[in-house]
Amino acid sequence: MAQQPFDAIVIGEGICGLTAANALARAGCRTATLEAQLFGGLVLNVNELDPAPDERAVSGAEFATELMQANAELGVASIQEAASAVHDREGLRVVATASGRYPARHVVVASGARLRKLNVPGENEFEGRGVSSCADCDGPLYQDEEVAVVGGGDSALQEALVLAKYCRKIHLIHRGERFRAQEQFVERVSAHPRISVAWNTTVEAIGGNKTVERVRIRRASAGAEELACAGVFAYVGLAPNSEFLPPAITRDAGGFVITQDTLETAVPGIWAVGAVRSGYSGLLTDAMDEARRAARVIAMQLGRA
Ligand code: NAP
Repeated sequence: MAQQPFDAIVIGEGICGLTAANALARAGCRTATLEAQLFGGLVLNVNELDPAPDERAVSGAEFATELMQANAELGVASIQEAASAVHDREGLRVVATASGRYPARHVVVASGARLRKLNVPGENEFEGRGVSSCADCDGPLYQDEEVAVVGGGDSALQEALVLAKYCRKIHLIHRGERFRAQEQFVERVSAHPRISVAWNTTVEAIGGNKTVERVRIRRASAGAEELACAGVFAYVGLAPNSEFLPPAITRDAGGFVITQDTLETAVPGIWAVGAVRSGYSGLLTDAMDEARRAARVIAMQLGRA
């Protein structure tokens, strides 16, 4: 391990990870970010971030690009590899990938979360042929069509509102009898003439020929029925990208990383921020605050602040 250790490695180039790296680099820390996919994370395809970071209208891709550029100017190294493990060695943290080992004094886990699947027949088969998770990118394909959106949280409601710009009708299918979403989204969905809510209803299967043509739903009150639709957008919660972390890093029942108030995990020198963290509020602006807070404490511990 001859390589000079970084002061900090941030795992994940979503908005939260990029913000952490930015704050660390500004504080004078030698910093790297690690990401196997395109930078930007969960909000990459969001056309208008809400709440808006820095109180200006900006898309997820624009904002992430600005942060990447700023980080490059600050000398942050961007490593295009997936973290497969994090070890402790000789007083350092070592992030392992398929092709390398990167030592650092601190590791910030900002690996985020991914959309959970419905896990029903037809979901994988029709992926990209009617099954989608990107309302902003695929919405225009469903101009004047009927689509189904599944879920009752912020994502389902926000994306249903995006789809309502294009589609003739949106069937918002929710297993519960009340939404678990911000009041502003609940009000706008409830008032929208093209969004119809199916309460206490689950999706059992997705069917069609070459592309999606219907979903089989089950209403708690009335049994199973077929609903004609050309697209299915499922937003049924998030699963944390935390599998690569060592067992010593404690997690909640959903696999989200447990941190102290300082955002440090159960392993000293390993921190967790944003959507991978248990207790994260779900607001991008809060993820950015967490990233800056963790960076500030790390910089202080390194004697840079
Ligand atoms: P979420 O808040 O966990 O909501 C998931 C929804 O899917 C819930 O309504 C849940 O029903 C339902 N659900 C879960 N499993 C299901 C299944 N197997 N079949 C059918 N329905 C199922 O997830 P999310 O909406 O993706 O939001 C994730 C986080 O991001 C949240 O913290 C949210 O606030 C945040 N977020 C924020 C914004 C914003 O600020 N603009 C936008 C999007 C997301 P129950 O209600 O019955 O449990």
